[in-house]
Amino acid sequence: MNINTILACATCEAETHCRIGMSNRKFQPLSFLCEGCGGAIEIDIKDMVGSGLRNAVEVQFERDSLGEHDRFFIDLHLDFPIWSTTYVMGKTPYFVAIEMVDKDKTFINGIPAVEIFRIRLDILNHFGEKFNEVKQLLKLYPKNNKELFRKKAIEFLKEEHSPSLAPQDINLLLYTVLSRVSLAFLEEETVKEVTSGYPQIIMQLAQTHREKLDEFYNYIKETGFLDGLQRDCLSLYGRIFELELYLRPAIFLDFCTGQEGKKSSAKISKLGFESCKDMYKDLSEIVGRQLALVAGINNLIHRGDHNSFLPSKDGPALSSLDKFANKVLSEKLKYLDECWYKLDEGLWNTDIRNSIAHYTFEYNELTQIITCYPSKEGLRQENKIEINFLSFMRTILIQFREMHYLHHLIKALYYYEYLILSK
Ligand SMILES: [Zn+2]
Repeated sequence: MNINTILACATCEAETHCRIGMSNRKFQPLSFLCEGCGGAIEIDIKDMVGSGLRNAVEVQFERDSLGEHDRFFIDLHLDFPIWSTTYVMGKTPYFVAIEMVDKDKTFINGIPAVEIFRIRLDILNHFGEKFNEVKQLLKLYPKNNKELFRKKAIEFLKEEHSPSLAPQDINLLLYTVLSRVSLAFLEEETVKEVTSGYPQIIMQLAQTHREKLDEFYNYIKETGFLDGLQRDCLSLYGRIFELELYLRPAIFLDFCTGQEGKKSSAKISKLGFESCKDMYKDLSEIVGRQLALVAGINNLIHRGDHNSFLPSKDGPALSSLDKFANKVLSEKLKYLDECWYKLDEGLWNTDIRNSIAHYTFEYNELTQIITCYPSKEGLRQENKIEINFLSFMRTILIQFREMHYLHHLIKALYYYEYLILSK
């Protein structure tokens, strides 16, 4: 369903024709900038009808007049990327998005892509309303009172069966919660690969390099690295839901590869880049730390010792995993020779990351283009990279997935302790 409405900006009186496509979310807060003056206009849709309008008033109009060029036009839809720039009757955001779906993804395992997307949005709607509960629950896990975590987790999952307080059962309970809440953000196939693949790798190492594997595990445990890393990972699950409104169109891009880069027009129907950029930084930071686990295991696989690195192209081998941990992200990648873990290097655009971290970027809220100036050149900032808000959110989504998959590695390592090391 779509609503057409004409809004007159309360600041400059410029009129904008809005075509609003309905999401299945109960409350849909949409916003955009008036092209006349740059003022933010906000529209709230509740239970499929408009319930709030800020900084604009609705104007009466003749249906025949839609599409006339004396006013601005904007398509809005919470769930889909917006590619349109002008009004074309029938070419709604939903319709255009469906046309963008890759031919080989129209049906996935016999289910239409749109249907899979709708199911994921339903899950998002469900847990999106409970994200504070998710946050509180995950804060309980690292604390000593495992009984309280167990009680709350079972309530949350509405499980009838109550697991024991044995650490392996509590570990399993935690990851059941995490898998359940993050379902909408993940790709099912990869989750399956990850959950079966990691324990196998660790078991294989237990057979071939038992003593050295134990040494590695004891080291990451005794230094507090593993526990600290898990605690930081847990803090991200509640936060990702705070960005849920911005991630919806980024999730849709799973079904239409490469379309986010159409930077002329791909947009998100909600303002708020500012509230997303810290998540990008924190995710890169945490995944960067998770890479120490990947490196340790890689060294064990190739050279039988977690501290044993291969010399990189640029210099001698690192002497220890500690040294690796101190490297910046782009450097770290160089030390992962023939890595067992396939990290999408394209994701780690360190230029964008550095710009965000050091505030050397500009954001144009009207075009939704982020211009990054990664190299500091005094006042002259010639070297620039542009990405749009949608691509940026897509990067956040993919980083979140990477963090979650590597979090499964943490789970597998704890299992190793509970089921093998301490037996
Ligand atoms: Zn205006």
